[in-house]
Amino acid sequence: MRVAIIPGDGIGPEVISEAVRAIEAVSADLEMEEAEMGLGAFQRTGSYLPDKTLELLRDVPAALFGAITSPLTYDPAYRSPLLRIRKEFDLYANIRPVRRWHGDLGLVDLDVIIVRENTEGMYTGAERDVAGGVVTERLVTARACERLVDRAVRLSHEQGRRRVTCVHKSNVLRRSDGLFRKVFYERTEGSGIEANDMLVDAAAAALISKPRELDVLVTLNLYGDILSDEAAALAGGLGFAPSVNMGDELALFEPTHGSAPDIAGRGVANPTAAILSAAMMLRHLGKAKEASKLEAAVETTLSLGHRTRDAGGRLGTREFMASYLEVLGTL
Ligand code: ATP
Repeated sequence: MRVAIIPGDGIGPEVISEAVRAIEAVSADLEMEEAEMGLGAFQRTGSYLPDKTLELLRDVPAALFGAITSPLTYDPAYRSPLLRIRKEFDLYANIRPVRRWHGDLGLVDLDVIIVRENTEGMYTGAERDVAGGVVTERLVTARACERLVDRAVRLSHEQGRRRVTCVHKSNVLRRSDGLFRKVFYERTEGSGIEANDMLVDAAAAALISKPRELDVLVTLNLYGDILSDEAAALAGGLGFAPSVNMGDELALFEPTHGSAPDIAGRGVANPTAAILSAAMMLRHLGKAKEASKLEAAVETTLSLGHRTRDAGGRLGTREFMASYLEVLGTL
């Protein structure tokens, strides 16, 4: 099976190369083809998203991506390659599992999956002037809600989750969020998954005060953006937060963190989010056993006290990886 590996910029290549080593330790039959994207790609090839990369993405079911750095100086011609990919491949669901991988990480004992709408909502970018201010258009369509909820239900079945919660603000945004809530109950009825709903402000509080009552959250673009960062911070930080942007043809797996230019090249980046993204990719490709091994090794490595600095430890990326691969070899 062929997949794309796109290391990108900053700490992207540092963490993705470690995730690739982890994949190689559990699965020998993946053909991992490397491709370029981002600022480094622009400096080398003149394009932030070379055609070769796009062609490869058209040919594979999945890609593992690191992070990219935006242009250092203002470039009016710049279009985010990630946004282009999201549009071109219609990656409509952003899925972020957030779990506290060890009891002394983070603040809250979370184990949730946030399924966020990725194509519309507040992020249409459509703004216009009116007297004295600006109006932002916010789009909510039935079709986008339907496929998002269907994806959340499918995911819940695949992952053995019992409850999906629709997170919205329909007490204020009666028509748009009301539509989302209505579609949610229509599509979850008879699905075998328990369904309930919550206002977004209540969900933000519940992540802290009632984390065990939350299981799978399905929500619109802006709410998901904010809640997933909150959840990641509560569960131990960006170094442990994997994600996927999923369409019907392509799934792009990536750590939630960015290219972290402040620590790039220093050998201190935490590769765990990239490894957990790789595990999600393996599960998506039907390799559940291999994925569970990568995850179990994260748990054991952390429980042995091996930590990178962002997690309160002293290890650099390579030292952490040495411990991780040793643990992985015993599973
Ligand atoms: P970008 O502009 O590419 O999004 P950023 O630095 O603004 O980059 P992040 O990359 O998300 O945003 O990082 C935010 C902070 O978290 C950084 O200061 C970085 O030091 C820290 N950080 C992010 N990811 C990691 C990681 N994997 N390991 C250690 N620290 C990290």
